[in-house]
Amino acid sequence: MNVFPADAATRTAPSVQRRVRLLLINPRFPESFWSFRWALNKILPGKRALNPPLGLATLAALCPPNWDVTVVDENIESIPLEPQADIVGVCGMAVQLTRQSELLNYYRKRGHYVVAGGSYASLCPERLEALADSVVSGEAEYIWPAFCRDFMAGAPQRLYQESGTVDLADSPTPRFDLLQLDKYLSVSLQFSRGCPYRCEFCDIIVMFGRQPRTKSPAQIGRELDLLRASGVKDVFFVDDNFIGHLPKAKELLHYLVDYQRRQGYSFQFGTEASLNLAGDDGLMHLLRSANFGWVFIGIESPDEESLRETGKSQNTRQDILASVRRIYSHGIDVLGGFIVGFDNDTLETFSRQRQFITLAGIQVAMVGLLTALPRTPLFERLAREQRLIPEAPHGDNTGTGSNIIPKRMSYGDMVGAYKKLCRDLVSDSSISARIHNKSRDLRQPVYRGDYPLAKRLSIIVRLMALGVLPGGPKRWFRFCGTLGANAPRTWPLIINDWISGLAMRDYVERRLGSDRRRQRPTAQATMEFIEGRFAACLSRGSLLVSSVPGVAFDRLEVTLRGYVEPQFFSRTGRRLERLLRQSTVKLTLHIEELAEGQRPHINRLLRRLARYGERVSIRTSGNLRVALAVDSSVFHLVLED
Ligand code: SF4
Repeated sequence: MNVFPADAATRTAPSVQRRVRLLLINPRFPESFWSFRWALNKILPGKRALNPPLGLATLAALCPPNWDVTVVDENIESIPLEPQADIVGVCGMAVQLTRQSELLNYYRKRGHYVVAGGSYASLCPERLEALADSVVSGEAEYIWPAFCRDFMAGAPQRLYQESGTVDLADSPTPRFDLLQLDKYLSVSLQFSRGCPYRCEFCDIIVMFGRQPRTKSPAQIGRELDLLRASGVKDVFFVDDNFIGHLPKAKELLHYLVDYQRRQGYSFQFGTEASLNLAGDDGLMHLLRSANFGWVFIGIESPDEESLRETGKSQNTRQDILASVRRIYSHGIDVLGGFIVGFDNDTLETFSRQRQFITLAGIQVAMVGLLTALPRTPLFERLAREQRLIPEAPHGDNTGTGSNIIPKRMSYGDMVGAYKKLCRDLVSDSSISARIHNKSRDLRQPVYRGDYPLAKRLSIIVRLMALGVLPGGPKRWFRFCGTLGANAPRTWPLIINDWISGLAMRDYVERRLGSDRRRQRPTAQATMEFIEGRFAACLSRGSLLVSSVPGVAFDRLEVTLRGYVEPQFFSRTGRRLERLLRQSTVKLTLHIEELAEGQRPHINRLLRRLARYGERVSIRTSGNLRVALAVDSSVFHLVLED
């Protein structure tokens, strides 16, 4: 166990005799391909996010029995601004680092003892050292109980770092009872950690090693029993490679087949696996028998040279397209991860990726720019070659940038081609072509869309009203074509594909689709509208509207400093909603002061802007922040005073 050097500013916790109140927070994710925001908001009411924070539920189970633990997932609920907690633990992946840092700062300033953890703390504990009282880095099973003991004794250390190997037999059953399971599309379980392969960009093998470790079937059975008792139907085995330890995976699958038979096939499973799955018919048969409806595979590239370059040799041993089709033939859907920007890649690679994804019929195709995560072999190689862009974002590889300098194309050309590829993949013709291509091989899908009849009907009605019909006769024609050409037993999967395709289209349109040349007049018109209609408020100083200097019209800031006419909220609300809909402008609503009786108006305004909450920051402070109770799972609630 390493310990950060002693720091005079380090706060120590008092020796604790009473019950310890622990608040664990999963920070809000910035929106990405993975969010499926349109599907969650519009088509699947009641669901707020894809998967719950399994790591926090496991951490909660590792606490002493007399600790009071609360888990808050900011992706489905607002954070508490004044929690009754002795310790606030905030986890995070690289993509959550900004929000994780904000939360650590906020709670630390309020006198809570703050602990940072999660996968980014495991990769780069030094990046969180200054922000937290303690950092927990690596698998938690042994080091978290050590932190709890030290905290109770009043002597927690700055860093708890797992440097050995955790036996997953020692991993407890997660505290699912602390999660709002019904708010998620599927619930996560973990069977294994580690992967035997050596892809150059992969941080999993840096964190978990190349010797896969597994839980026993009995452990998984106990977890499934709890989920079944909670009414969970969809379970996602979050292992980075479910078949990394093949004999153990097969042992579990035999157990799951038996479990499902005994329990009336109450679960629908999905997981992630390497492509060599396609070479083992027995394994695919077992997956099907255990009711695995889909598998996510890191295909990365159809280009053999790029695969070799990145060390993904397991994908070069067989024809990738034939492999995907073989998996389909067992009734299992394939979701795919793809990367562009390898050293071998040129601008032609983008169209080859599009052709491959279309031919393979992969609807959920997560295409990302190659990004180097710290401590990976890729990061180290590019650092040696001086091809890293310092401080460029590296958390979300499906964002519109990367931290690497490509080799055989310019950075600008790469990003431009990437955006085009994303747009091409979400066109109606591309969505329907992929459904047709997949349906040729996937004739007996495991996926049945096991919802009650009323819910099934409501999903279809919403999809038609909010997704298919707004696309006009051409989309309607294509939608009907995909259903008409296939047997009714495949319709649930086809409908699912349309929902996924249109959700990705919505994301791409909002993220990449806006013509930025239109942004200036639109934002300017909104400013002029407010200045013209509410000149009196502006002149008496209760209202201020501005764009952020230097980033002209990319960001609009509206400040409220006192009484503003009620019609301001309705009229300006409509204009702001249109601005957000038609552009990629970010809005900051700065509420410095709110006059008597204006709270209902501001609440109505917030409801109007909620659909674009991802780009709306609410800045306020002190008591007003607490009184307004802005939902931080919808808007970016700025936490600095
Ligand atoms: S197969 Fe997946 S988990 Fe395994 S090393 Fe490659 S990218 Fe990482």
